[in-house]
Amino acid sequence: MNQSDPIRTQNFPAFLDLSGRHVVVVGGGGNAERKLGRLLQSGAHIVVIAELLSPAVDTCIRENHLDHRPRNWQSNDFQNASLVIAASDDRQFDADAAAAAEAAGCWVNVANQPQLSNFLIPSLIDRSPLLVAVSSAGTSPVLARLLTARIDAFLPHTYSELGKLAARYRDRIASEIGNWRQRRRFWEQLLNGRLGELILQGRHENADLALEQAIQEYDSNSDVHGEVYLVGAGPGDPDLLSFRALRLMQQCDVVLYDRLVSEPVMSLVNSQAEKIYVGKQSSNHAVPQESINQLLVTHAKKGRRVLRLKGGDPFIFGRGGEEIETLAAEGVPFQVVPGITAAAGCASYAGIPLTHRDHAQSCLFVTGHLKDNSVDLDWPALTRSQQTVVIYMGLAGLPVICQQLINHGLPPTHPIAIVSQGTLSNQQVITGTLSTLAERVESEAVKAPTLIIIGDVVTLRDKLAWFETRH
Ligand code: SAH
Repeated sequence: MNQSDPIRTQNFPAFLDLSGRHVVVVGGGGNAERKLGRLLQSGAHIVVIAELLSPAVDTCIRENHLDHRPRNWQSNDFQNASLVIAASDDRQFDADAAAAAEAAGCWVNVANQPQLSNFLIPSLIDRSPLLVAVSSAGTSPVLARLLTARIDAFLPHTYSELGKLAARYRDRIASEIGNWRQRRRFWEQLLNGRLGELILQGRHENADLALEQAIQEYDSNSDVHGEVYLVGAGPGDPDLLSFRALRLMQQCDVVLYDRLVSEPVMSLVNSQAEKIYVGKQSSNHAVPQESINQLLVTHAKKGRRVLRLKGGDPFIFGRGGEEIETLAAEGVPFQVVPGITAAAGCASYAGIPLTHRDHAQSCLFVTGHLKDNSVDLDWPALTRSQQTVVIYMGLAGLPVICQQLINHGLPPTHPIAIVSQGTLSNQQVITGTLSTLAERVESEAVKAPTLIIIGDVVTLRDKLAWFETRH
C-alpha cells in the first residue's frame, strides 16, 4: 500500500444508517431534486431549505411530508444536521452554505463541486439489500457512471431476492451452525449451488422450502474435510487467470504462495485468507519442499480450503507433482488448475510464435538451472533444425548455454531472445544472436524472472511485437 500515491484515493468507503437523523438539503431546483431521490429511501428526517421550489421538488416535499423552510439558509440550520447537501443551482451560494456547514462540523456534499465536499455520493447499483457503490473520488463522474451501467447490466435483478433470502435466514442458520467457518461454507455452497441458481433465474417460489431442507440435511461431520487447490497463477498479468483459478482463489481459507506469483494476482485472493509465503530464491530455498508438502497436509486436515498458488503452470517446472503426491499418500482431496506457463505467456506478449510453419515444427521446454555450476543439458537435442527451444531458469547459465549451442553446431548468428518479467507492464525483451546476447544482457541489468527463447521464430518479433508498443 502506498499512501503517497496521488492516484490512489484516500476516500474511505462506508454506508451510513441515516434513519431518524437530520439531513439538510439547501436548494429547491434540479440538483436538489436529484439528491432528494436517493435520500428519501434512507429514513432520514429531511429538511429542505429554499425560497423557490421547482414543481417536482414541491411535489416531493408534499408527498413525503418533508420539512420545508422557505428562506435562505442560516448557520444555525446546520447545528443538528448529520449531513448537509448544498444543491442549489448557484455554485457560489452552495460554496458559502458548505463552508458554514463544515464550520458547524457537518459532513457536506456540494453538487458538482467534489473539491468542496467532505463526503461524496457514489453511483449506485441497487439490489437491496445488496448495494454496489462506484466512485471515481470526484475525478470522473462520467467514468463512474459508465462503470455503474456495465455492472448494472451484468448483475441480475434477482440478486435482490437472494439477498432477502439470506437476510431472512441469517439468525436461524447462525443458531443451527455454530462454527463460523462451517457456516460460511454452508452459505457459499447454498448460494453458489442449485438454490442460488434457481433464485437468480427468478424461480424462487419454493426457495424457503429448499433452504429449510438444506438446513435439515446439513451434516456438520461431512464438512470437516479440507481440500487443496493446486492452482496455476500464470506468468503475471492477472487477466491471464482462468475462471476456475479465480473462483478457488476467492473461496480459500489459506494460501501458500511463492515469489513468482505477481502482486496483481495476489490482490485477487480472498482478503480474509491467511497468507503464507513459501518463496524460494534461486539456490536459497526459503522453505524446503518437504515442509511445503507437510504444510499443505496439515492445513487441509484441519478442514481448511488450502490454495497452493504457483507461478505459471503447476506441472511445468513447478514441483506441483511432488506436492500432490504427498497429498495423495495422505488421502487429502485436491484439484489441479492449469495456468498459462511462462513460455506461452512470454512468447505471446513478446510477439514470438513458438511454432511457425516456415521456422519451427516443434518446441522444447527445458530448465537451465545450474547444477554444480554447470549446465547439464542434452545439447545435440537442442541444436536440431526447425525447432524452438525455451529455457526456464536460464539467466545465470546464459553465457554457457550460448557457447555450448555454438560448440554443438548452431551458427553464432542463430537468433535468441530473453524476456524479463513477461506479461507484466514492465516486460522487457532483448533479442540478439548466440554470439551477442550474453554480453547485451549483462550490460542491461535484466530483472528476474527471465525466460530464454532460441530459434528462427525470434526474428518474427520485428513484425509481431505488440505489447510494449502499447505503453
Ligand atoms: N511453473 C512455472 C515455471 C516455474 S520455474 C511456469 O509454468 O511458468 C521459474 C522460471 O519460470 C523462472 O526462472 C523463469 O525462467 C520462468 N518465468 C516465470 N514467470 C516468468 C515471467 N513472468 N517472465 C519471464 N520468465 C518467467
